[in-house]
Amino acid sequence: MKKHNFYAGPSILPEFTKEKTAEAIMNFAGTGLSVMEVSHRSKEFVAVMDEAVALVKELLKVPEGYSVLFLQGGASTQFLMAPYNLLDKKAAYLNTGAWSAKAIKEAKFFGEVVEAASSKDANYNYIPKKIDVPSDASYLHVTTNNTIYGTQLYTDLDVDIPLVGDMSSDIFSRPIDISKYDLIYAGAQKNLGPAGATLVIVKNSAVGKIDRQIPTMLNYQTHIDKDSMFNTPSVLPVFASLQTLRWLKQNGGVEAMEQTNIKKAAMLYDEIDRNKLFESTVPNKEDRSKMNVTFVMTPEFAEFEKEFLDFASEKGMIGIKGHRSVGGFRASIYNAMPVESVKALIETMQEFEKTK
Ligand SMILES: *Cc1c(COP(=O)(O)O)cnc(C)c1O
Repeated sequence: MKKHNFYAGPSILPEFTKEKTAEAIMNFAGTGLSVMEVSHRSKEFVAVMDEAVALVKELLKVPEGYSVLFLQGGASTQFLMAPYNLLDKKAAYLNTGAWSAKAIKEAKFFGEVVEAASSKDANYNYIPKKIDVPSDASYLHVTTNNTIYGTQLYTDLDVDIPLVGDMSSDIFSRPIDISKYDLIYAGAQKNLGPAGATLVIVKNSAVGKIDRQIPTMLNYQTHIDKDSMFNTPSVLPVFASLQTLRWLKQNGGVEAMEQTNIKKAAMLYDEIDRNKLFESTVPNKEDRSKMNVTFVMTPEFAEFEKEFLDFASEKGMIGIKGHRSVGGFRASIYNAMPVESVKALIETMQEFEKTK
């Protein structure tokens, strides 16, 4: 039976990425060696890193003056690296979910944190519209897609202080105006590649402005100076990420992805709104994520949650159990998720409705 992979992360990757990576695990670039067993300083691997950086710049239209880095430690290490490098005395954070809250916790090690707005009062089921940004904060940190709560911030905010964006679960899903950000980071494992690489896009002039001693590995300048080769990069995840970047380019880039993502999300939300058994956890339609679609049984049918999970799993739907802090279901429909899989989930929901 065909499996439809709705996991939130690590999550579905393009067939292309898996095939090319499998080939390179056995024979990388005609070397007769595995991509896992060649020096990261070999000309073959340096070419991989260079092309990956170039493609990120091309696909996201990264302006001059920014560096693209592939680091390790996941987005969670960026929660501390960002304030370590950029927070002078105070920083503002938009608190839109569990990941924002974790980022806030780390920033507090380095200075005062002001919550510019929070949606915690409603279990993070919306994106706050009124944002209070103190002008003396070093930056405003936003989580552009709230992987757990199924909300997404679709605008690159206009604020008078630098923006920092955790884009772990929606990078490459739509065009973004990089020039508004001093720093963007994303763990690879949602929309780019296997876990183990973290994409960082940093404005060169934003680094080195504050008066703080920073250990070498945690200093962005180290990695900017050494083109992500200060120490051994995560060669296999970077190689696989490059394949996804090539796939993105072949398939029309982020503009084309956005169109498909709009279509996939609309289909699924329409079904959730129509089907008598289900309802969205995000009432404001404009805040609903196009990457992680969260929904629950309507109160009337609440008792059938487990039955639906079993029913869906028999139909090949994998990973749709909701995060424990929201309950219900979550269908993650990242770039690599084909329209057919979204249709298969919709059919499953319709078949289940007929049994009630
Ligand atoms: C998954 C996720 C993280 C955590 O990423 P790690 O790479 O596991 O540290 C952080 N932020 C968001 C928005 C995420 O989706």
